[in-house]
Amino acid sequence: MGVSELKTDILIIGAGPAGLYGSYYAGYRGMTVMVMDSLPEVGGQISAMYPEKAIYDVAGHPGIKGRELISNLVTQAGQFNPTYLLGHQAQDLTLNTDSVTVTSHQGTEVEAKAVIITGGIGTFQPRALPVGEDYLGKGLVYFLPSLEEHRDKDVVIVGGGDSAFDWALNLHSIAKSITIVHRREEFRAHATTVSQVKGLGVSILTSSEVTQIQGSPNVESVEVTHKTSKEVTRLTAQTVVAALGFIANLGPFAKWGLDVQGRKINVDTKMATAVDRIYAAGDITTYDGKVPLIAVGFGEAATAVNNAFVRINPDAHLNPPHSSGEAS
Ligand SMILES: Cc1cc2nc3c(=O)[nH]c(=O)nc-3n(C[C@H](O)[C@H](O)[C@H](O)COP(=O)(O)OP(=O)(O)OC[C@H]3O[C@@H](n4cnc5c(N)ncnc54)[C@H](O)[C@@H]3O)c2cc1C
Repeated sequence: MGVSELKTDILIIGAGPAGLYGSYYAGYRGMTVMVMDSLPEVGGQISAMYPEKAIYDVAGHPGIKGRELISNLVTQAGQFNPTYLLGHQAQDLTLNTDSVTVTSHQGTEVEAKAVIITGGIGTFQPRALPVGEDYLGKGLVYFLPSLEEHRDKDVVIVGGGDSAFDWALNLHSIAKSITIVHRREEFRAHATTVSQVKGLGVSILTSSEVTQIQGSPNVESVEVTHKTSKEVTRLTAQTVVAALGFIANLGPFAKWGLDVQGRKINVDTKMATAVDRIYAAGDITTYDGKVPLIAVGFGEAATAVNNAFVRINPDAHLNPPHSSGEAS
């Protein structure tokens, strides 16, 4: 069999927390599993956007760094040797008699008995800062994979949402100075986080925009203009974090015949989609009462995998044996 034609029991599309946990569960139920992701590394939104942040609402972890949570999930899934197809975007779906075939944008075909879509918010790109794009990689960043890189630097964070304020909290004890620049008076971030940041004495410039980035070759300063008074302030900065959110797109799943609502896929209580043998879990699913959290995605992934298992093996039990019984 050529490298471009692969076979597996379960294909998981999306290597974020839901996909990684689903991968463990598929292995635990004795199925072979492949995990495809368009990004070059596993971890979904966590690895891409906040690997250094502490997460406080994952069951069993009073507080865990994003990077550590992903590493634990990879170790857990690794017990059953999943095959990772990273850098492959799932593009096309073909329905066969007893299986489905997913073709990646690179032409790799994976024939699977069932597919679990854990595509999160789909393909995502950071919203660009209107000025200074040339400084990308020279001090202008969209994500902060390593906080340490910004130790003792003057940091300007642009944005008024959760990311902007979370980065301010996380960088506070590391950076030399932090200034938040936001174009409105009100913030989208949680009021508690805003108060925490204000309590730390972080400088916040509202109704203001970064109108220029200066320095050669790296960022040395930014020019901030007040929207009404037009007063210009120059701030020393070696790092500019553009935390303006991101543009998400459901991508190729939109043309797979699924029941799509906006950027989400409708699922039933089995996490089954409108297409036979295709299940979904995590941020990408929607139903009445859905809450998009890591903890919820874990539960949905287990539900999806167990139901896919029964779809593949109709005589099998839906309920798995308890994993604690396997250990001794
Ligand atoms: C700044 C920030 C802080 C957060 N803090 C928390 C928190 O404290 N607690 C909490 O519970 N949640 C938090 N969240 C939300 C949490 O990150 C998500 O709920 C979680 O990542 C969803 O996991 P997922 O596996 O469903 O999808 P994702 O993590 O989005 O992963 C989906 C993966 O699918 C891939 N993909 C998409 N389409 C395709 C395709 N066609 N082919 C191949 N691959 C594809 C993507 O590349 C991505 O890697 C936070 C989010 C952000 C942005």
